[in-house]
Amino acid sequence: MGAKPLRLLILGAHPDDAEFHAGGLVWRYTQAGHVVKLVSATDGSAGHFRLSGPPLAALRATEATRAATLLGATAEVWPFPDGRLEPSLALREQVIRELRQFGPDLVLTHRTCDYHPDHRAIGQAVQDACYLVTVPTICPDVPILRRDPVVATMNDRFTRPNPLRADVVLDITPDFDRVVKACAAHESQFFEWLPFNQNRLEDVPLDTAARQAWLAGQLAPHWAGYAERFRHELCQTYGDAAGHRVRYCHALEISEYARPLDPDERRRLFWFLPEPDTASAG
Ligand SMILES: [Zn+2]
Repeated sequence: MGAKPLRLLILGAHPDDAEFHAGGLVWRYTQAGHVVKLVSATDGSAGHFRLSGPPLAALRATEATRAATLLGATAEVWPFPDGRLEPSLALREQVIRELRQFGPDLVLTHRTCDYHPDHRAIGQAVQDACYLVTVPTICPDVPILRRDPVVATMNDRFTRPNPLRADVVLDITPDFDRVVKACAAHESQFFEWLPFNQNRLEDVPLDTAARQAWLAGQLAPHWAGYAERFRHELCQTYGDAAGHRVRYCHALEISEYARPLDPDERRRLFWFLPEPDTASAG
């Protein structure tokens, strides 16, 4: 890596989205000394069945900080209400200011085809900010960047109108335990709200070690599903033998509205991936 650390910004809708959708990449970045910030556009105040409002928002902010710390990153929670996020001008301008102030090399967000309206809203706001971030008369209080970031969307399972195109695939098999640990820090979600929502709250073990193992079992099929779905891309990236050994992966689709991921930029932002020609030979 060069002397200047890279800066990765994840703009998710909820306090646990970055860990769940891209935790392996976050860990890869911070372990190499790069700087990562995880933003939740909403306050998380809708994600529970007993708690709500400011007490839930406060709990989720604490969990977000713990999870980010486990990944070597920092967390920031914006005050937009959970479950009611809109792709408003206010959200778009907050995104533009965040992009200009943080100065990321790489930005990740949700796609706009997604089951959750909050995910779609922040995905839309980031998409809308991609060009406007370069226009000095928009949000003139914050100067434009001299170098705009690459923007990508994180993996999801949705297919209408388009499934994710895996422009970048990343083997997270070695990072699995760490990412599970970071997700487990969102106790109110992975051990309470999500099992409740899926009608299996009684399956969650009570003691901490058993819980962690249970959660690993819950999360594994999710990332393994991407590895199966993107096996072809994994083999192209890592070579046939190594590509078939990948158990868990993340995939990213590069936005065509922001800086293109040319070969130099790919080498810079994803330095840990093999060179395309050497991988196919292996
Ligand atoms: Zn979410």
